[in-house]
Amino acid sequence: MSKTILITGAAGFLGSHLCDRFIVEGFRILGMDNFITGDKDNIQHLFDHPNFHFIEHDVTVHIDIKEPIDYILHFASPASPIDYLKIPIQTLKVGSLGTHNLLGLAKAKNARILIASTSEVYGDPLVHPQSENYFGNVNSIGPRGVYDEAKRFQEAITMAYHRFHGLETRIARIFNTYGPRMRLNDGRVIPAFMGQALRGENLSVFGKGTQTRSFCYVDDLIEGIYRLLFSDYSNPVNLGNPDEITIIEFADEILKLTNSNQKIIFKSLPEDDPLKRQPDITLAKKLLNWTPQISRAEGMKLTFNYFQNLSKEKLTKIDHKDFSKHIKQ
Ligand code: NAD
Ligand code: UDP
Repeated sequence: MSKTILITGAAGFLGSHLCDRFIVEGFRILGMDNFITGDKDNIQHLFDHPNFHFIEHDVTVHIDIKEPIDYILHFASPASPIDYLKIPIQTLKVGSLGTHNLLGLAKAKNARILIASTSEVYGDPLVHPQSENYFGNVNSIGPRGVYDEAKRFQEAITMAYHRFHGLETRIARIFNTYGPRMRLNDGRVIPAFMGQALRGENLSVFGKGTQTRSFCYVDDLIEGIYRLLFSDYSNPVNLGNPDEITIIEFADEILKLTNSNQKIIFKSLPEDDPLKRQPDITLAKKLLNWTPQISRAEGMKLTFNYFQNLSKEKLTKIDHKDFSKHIKQ
């Protein structure tokens, strides 16, 4: 009998790649999503698969599943700063109420649950690189607070279920991950720059571009999540690629990769935009025998190839997703 895994955020960027991986591994998948930032096209190819079942549902509303569940991957949440600034209350609810519902479901089903946390729990870090024992520097009332604090609450309630109920829990602190199936217009820096290059626009660097990020290709991240789920470690684990770069250098790389004659233009730095970010992955290396395999050059080529082959409609649609039809608050 195949094991059953519930994947929330299944129609999103990471969720859809997780569905693909667990299908290949022979799992029965219950994919759950309300499409608020996701896209049906990301999982269209799975709809006819006998081991894939889709449930359209908002995880902040009570989740009723009759059948047994062995594992849960909770990946539902807006993840792009632009998305969570536009839907701040949904972002807070999915990290808090949604996580509570999923922990309750895991407890009822005696399932192991892995939650998608983030490097944002470190906020604008005063320690560099960031290791798991750093408590972070988050502005709870700033615009990014809705995401950061929801994720910090998510970690706290997950540890409470682990300690109080003995639930099997895993926490992945994911650092900037990229690859095919990101929304071209979600505002994150990689789709933003690649979309601008493809449309023949100048690349928008925020601030002076001296802030750093460290980008991890999606296949590496999925491998890390897979290993973490089957590990026996309950405390948070950083997953990301330590290869750090400034945003201005990165913009130059994208201009070269895309053979673009466009220029770099500077726009104001969003409030609380972290100045530095680089994962310390010593723990993941030791615990999971995991280290990223795909270089930025290789990963960016694969990603650009994906964006180049998008339909014209998706390429030219630069306005942001219409969230209004999903919001009942
Ligand atoms: P995404 O926006 O592509 O996917 C999120 C998915 O969750 C979407 O399909 C969306 O429709 C769904 N969703 C949101 N709220 C929901 C709700 N209330 N009920 C049901 N479905 C809902 O984002 P992503 O990059 O795939 O991120 C997935 C997860 O990984 C998120 O929890 C995010 O915080 C985390 N994460 C991602 C990164 C990254 O670099 N991609 C980094 C750190 C953490
Ligand atoms: N950024 C940028 N131009 C853009 C989009 C983002 O310079 O069009 C910068 C942003 O200010 C941040 C970095 O790129 O410093 C990464 O932004 P992203 O939204 O991808 O994710 P974050 O790591 O901030 O959550």
